[in-house]
Amino acid sequence: MTNVRHNWTKEEILNIYNKPFMELLYEAATVHRQHHDPNSVQVSTLLSIKTGGCPEDCGYCPQAARYHTNVEGNDLMSVQQVKAQALRAKSTGSSRVCMGAAWRNVKDGEEFDQVLEMVRTINKLEMEVCCTLGMITENQAHRLAEAGLYAYNHNLDSSEEYYKEVISTRGYEDRLQTIDNVRKTNVTVCSGGIIGMGEKIEDRAGMLVALSTLNPQPESVPINALVAVEGTPLADEKPVEIWDMIRMVATARIVMPETQVRLSAGRTQMSREGQAMCFFAGANSIFAGDKLLTTPNPDVNEDMKMFEALGLNPQKPFTKKVQPPTVEAAESQFQALGEKPKWTRPEHKIERNEIAKQQSKVLK
Ligand code: SF4
Repeated sequence: MTNVRHNWTKEEILNIYNKPFMELLYEAATVHRQHHDPNSVQVSTLLSIKTGGCPEDCGYCPQAARYHTNVEGNDLMSVQQVKAQALRAKSTGSSRVCMGAAWRNVKDGEEFDQVLEMVRTINKLEMEVCCTLGMITENQAHRLAEAGLYAYNHNLDSSEEYYKEVISTRGYEDRLQTIDNVRKTNVTVCSGGIIGMGEKIEDRAGMLVALSTLNPQPESVPINALVAVEGTPLADEKPVEIWDMIRMVATARIVMPETQVRLSAGRTQMSREGQAMCFFAGANSIFAGDKLLTTPNPDVNEDMKMFEALGLNPQKPFTKKVQPPTVEAAESQFQALGEKPKWTRPEHKIERNEIAKQQSKVLK
């Protein structure tokens, strides 16, 4: 029943995004029903396994070491700590654990071995495991796959054009390279972006072109609304209007019909009614837990009350794809090669990022 297109143009996507609201909502809901159970929404838990101190300059991120924010850095969590949190997440309805580490790229060594053990441990709990660890090589992607990783997250963030206005320490093609490395394994791809960073609607459409023309399309696309954090270059951006969020979700649903569209950061700024419209428009996943890496998120009990009110059921794990097997470290086929991902250094300056960096030096 697949009618997935990989040749969407920016004009076509803009036409969808700008449709009269009721038409857009109806079309998106229709596509959603053809490909998904409209009463099933996946609950995922995001764990920050290593927080802060990141060398990158992503303008939205409180974990970038160069900005002055209230985020306290933490070393890599232990496998036992992660297991305890995963069990807690499972008991409150989560079927997926996404582990985030504030790294530019993965380095082979003890810490990566520890992350691989976390992946094995969570997969054995029969939960989907996702990691977001920065850039990875093909060999590292194979090692994660072998450990039982279900998904790897690497967001495109925005359009290729606007990406340069937010991040200067790496290029768009570096993001695409990591996604390509993941695609050489059985691990599914999770890649989306953020709206509300000062981009134009054309940039939102541009991001959806970049995602929807990947073949295969990402199995998972998180749509985040910027959570503007004091001390970051984007601290003064205005909150995203709910209508923009619904339009973005609906457009993503229409152009990527089989994908899990994830309502991600920014839910604390949304009413339950607003979130219900996002589910109607095709969102079929939320992140649970009071923190999303470092920014606030609705309480899990509040989410369960919302599910009850809407008659939604938490999606079971491995509904979309079978559970990957786990290979123990001692039986691994893949050795650490000590390779580093190759990435570009675009060497352009982003004025607001530079200003935030200078202000941070004064404050420190
Ligand atoms: S978004 Fe990721 S890569 Fe960018 S600064 Fe934050 S932790 Fe680092």
